[in-house]
Amino acid sequence: MAQFEEVTHSKVLVTGAAGFLGSHLVDFLLKKGHQVIGIDSFQTGSPAKLEHLENHPKFKLISHNIQTPFEGLGLENIDQIFNLACPASPIHYQKDPISTLKTCFQGIENILELAKANDIRVLHTSTSEVYGDPQVHPQPESYWGNVNPFGARSCYDEGKRVAEALCYAYQEKYPDLQIRIARIFNTYGPRMAHSDGRVVSSFIGDALAGNPIKITGDGTATRSFQYITDCIEGLYRLMNSDYPAPVNIGNPGEFTIREFAEIIVDMVAELGMPKVPITYLPRPADDPNTRKPDITRAKEVLGWEPTVNLKDGLVETIKWHMEQSK
Ligand code: NAD
Repeated sequence: MAQFEEVTHSKVLVTGAAGFLGSHLVDFLLKKGHQVIGIDSFQTGSPAKLEHLENHPKFKLISHNIQTPFEGLGLENIDQIFNLACPASPIHYQKDPISTLKTCFQGIENILELAKANDIRVLHTSTSEVYGDPQVHPQPESYWGNVNPFGARSCYDEGKRVAEALCYAYQEKYPDLQIRIARIFNTYGPRMAHSDGRVVSSFIGDALAGNPIKITGDGTATRSFQYITDCIEGLYRLMNSDYPAPVNIGNPGEFTIREFAEIIVDMVAELGMPKVPITYLPRPADDPNTRKPDITRAKEVLGWEPTVNLKDGLVETIKWHMEQSK
């Protein structure tokens, strides 16, 4: 039985608004009729992702780092906060791991303090990385994960885990505080930066440029790919549900990296471009071997499941990448 209840015309704060997911969420919320305030430090995002909203009467963008408290920004009469601010790609979150940890911990602490003081509902975006290199497949929310606490990926994986722990601690201490946690799995779509090193944008970027697709490892590792519109619908439903524990938001379709690379090569070749070769590079440390969400909980409590199949989502994504390079 779904527990999702649509809330109309509220005032919503989106942190990380100028990022990939954030900019799509802002568009979605405005279309629903909400008033939206976006916050971003522009560490990995860019105001260009929101420039189509420059004169939108219901949207405002504030430059702010969530590691700093929100006093003085006039955010007291907000109804909901979606916390998306955090670099999500390994090349970005590993550039300044101490800052990544601060964004994860101090960032959500500042948000929870603002929420507690003003009775604001919070949705925190966690990640499938909390499952690390999983020993359970597919991954249900009840799985505790297999994460290296002392390595190159720890700033993000453990940062996201400690953020969930802080959400839990606040919920225990302040039972009236409404907190939702989305464990998002690999999401792709238009507006994902070309150069951010994530598998979808890297493969598409290389194939369109006529360069070989570079797989790290032997290509047998698996990933699940969720299209952006499915993810945003899932986040919205979770925010407006009464479910207090983490929920996986991902697409359970599972592909080896090699299969995925071959799909991209073929799709780009179908557009009349040369068929690029696939090359193999050493696998990065602690790279997870498998990844696939168990979405039983999301189906039950949100009445949600992904609706966009991989090829349809990739058509839109490739189209966007081609427009960018014109
Ligand atoms: P992104 O890098 O495109 O966007 C993140 C945004 O947050 C950027 O605009 C960046 O400038 C901003 N930001 C970073 N640190 C900040 C800070 N301290 N203060 C204010 N703004 C800050 O990443 P994304 O893919 O849009 O991811 C959004 C959220 O979803 C992240 O929290 C990420 O961990 C989570 N997530 C994403 C995926 C995915 O596949 N895209 C998967 C799992 C979880």
